[in-house]
Amino acid sequence: MERYGGNTSCVQVISSNGTLVVIDCGTGAHDLGRTLLAEAKGPLKGNILISHTHWDHIQGFPFFTPLFVPGGNWDIYGPSGLGRSLRDTLSGQMEHTYFPVTLDQMGANIFFHDLVEGHFEIDDIHITARYLNHPTLTLGYKLEVGGASVIYACDHEPHSRQLGQDGPLHELDQLHCDFLSGADLVIHDAHFTDKEYVAHKGWGHSPVEYVCELGYRAGVKQLAFTHHDPLRTDQAIDQIVEAARSDLKAKASPMHVFAAAEGMAIDLNSPAFTITESHDGSHSATRTSPALYDPSVLIGISEPKWSQVLAEAARAEGIRTVHATNTASALQSAKSTPPGLILLEDQPKGIDGLAICRDLRSSRDPRLVDVPIVMVSDREKISEGIDAGVTRWLISPFSTQYAKAVIHACLLRSNLRWKRAALPPDEKERLSALGKLSLLDTAPEERFDRITRLAVAIGDVPIASVTLVDQNRQWFKSCVGLGNSENSRELSFCAHAILGRSPLIVPDTLRDDRFADNPLVTGDPRIRFYAGFPIVYNGGSCVGTLCLIDTRPRHFPASILQRFEDLASLVQQELNVSPKNGNP
Ligand SMILES: [Zn+2]
Ligand SMILES: [Zn+2]
Repeated sequence: MERYGGNTSCVQVISSNGTLVVIDCGTGAHDLGRTLLAEAKGPLKGNILISHTHWDHIQGFPFFTPLFVPGGNWDIYGPSGLGRSLRDTLSGQMEHTYFPVTLDQMGANIFFHDLVEGHFEIDDIHITARYLNHPTLTLGYKLEVGGASVIYACDHEPHSRQLGQDGPLHELDQLHCDFLSGADLVIHDAHFTDKEYVAHKGWGHSPVEYVCELGYRAGVKQLAFTHHDPLRTDQAIDQIVEAARSDLKAKASPMHVFAAAEGMAIDLNSPAFTITESHDGSHSATRTSPALYDPSVLIGISEPKWSQVLAEAARAEGIRTVHATNTASALQSAKSTPPGLILLEDQPKGIDGLAICRDLRSSRDPRLVDVPIVMVSDREKISEGIDAGVTRWLISPFSTQYAKAVIHACLLRSNLRWKRAALPPDEKERLSALGKLSLLDTAPEERFDRITRLAVAIGDVPIASVTLVDQNRQWFKSCVGLGNSENSRELSFCAHAILGRSPLIVPDTLRDDRFADNPLVTGDPRIRFYAGFPIVYNGGSCVGTLCLIDTRPRHFPASILQRFEDLASLVQQELNVSPKNGNP
């Protein structure tokens, strides 16, 4: 890319009053910093908005020279609440193994501000921060001065993850469309084309066609594609823009689309951009919720084993915790300093979480009416929970990893698309059957390995295993394509499969609310397709499965699925004649 340039994300916005905002600090920040200093010939006052802390958006930060000039003043804003604070992340990449100067040694006065969704002002610019759909916590920014607006939405991918844009949008895509509504200029991630996107769902980037459709529906005036695939040539980008333009022409859309290029400057200096208000401006009156926010979680739990795991999970998410060990102090703490999230227990002898929940929900403080409340318990009381205003239940036992996912989803106010399988009704008998098999933690055996090899060959899948579902884990008696021999039952797809006596087929995990956020889907081995065939021991309990896994979505015809079932029957036969169970 010679004309469009190969630097990573960095955009500069200047209001006609001279307020300087730099959005993202990718490698482009290096040249920008030098240009700014050359023009200013002295210390600078400016602001940096960070969308998220993926490397390509912050790697230019240590090379942004205005930060080294004594007397300079810089305010740096970015999302926080999950993971480390913005300051910690930025200083982390400047540790001495990577960089000769630490953040504390930078010469300018630097102030960090952690953001959540909401509104705030930087001098004459009114800013709206909005979460985008990206694997890490990411904010899009809308900058408004007078009547003009610029939106930076990078990195983001469609919520529906479906192609074809006829008909109404997915509810969350509609929200994103509303965010873009009427902007003079939208700078949007358009990393893929529709065709490429099919193989890259879940990567957090948008296809050009989706961005165009949204811009068109939102009545955007100018739309800039950015975050180009680094492997794309200038010519390929030109073709993409041409295709988008001819689509828009067919729809008689007046929206102007183009590909953002290195050094490109866009002047929005229309009459609408004339600044009419003063610094402390009229925007404060319309402020709905402040974006500057220090998230904390109130843990109102007396049961030590729960509060310990939850505190650990909150710490892993980088969130401050406040503890209360009885009903009165939990209630008082929530009211005096409303937290971003409340975790309570439902224990008659400990903390009466449901009573606290009812009390907070009837409060006049909107922060307490809206705050997500998670109720921790041994069992879910569905209707009482709804009456009291419980956001979600967290049923014991749970791991730190699962608690972390729940906290993450609640703070983002999104659904947790990871369901732990229920225990089968015959769990006790099932575990005793599994014990009688005496197969757990035994060495691999050819009689099973040949079956998993066949499964991989027939299905053309990278992974197949004979999985036994133990009390707290799943363990692989035979496995092709996975490095480990077991993982926790919470993560287990097979724990779902053993609930029914028929095969569990998940053609695309990202479209399945039980699995889309499962760490085995969002992380290694990135399961996209799963098929599990239950294995029943001696006509009684279901002890495990023969399962097949792929890293792409798959659809198999019935004839092939029948083969897999045949293989599962062979595994079942092997179990039932197992020399160790003494049952020929
Ligand atoms: Zn990213
Ligand atoms: Zn990126």
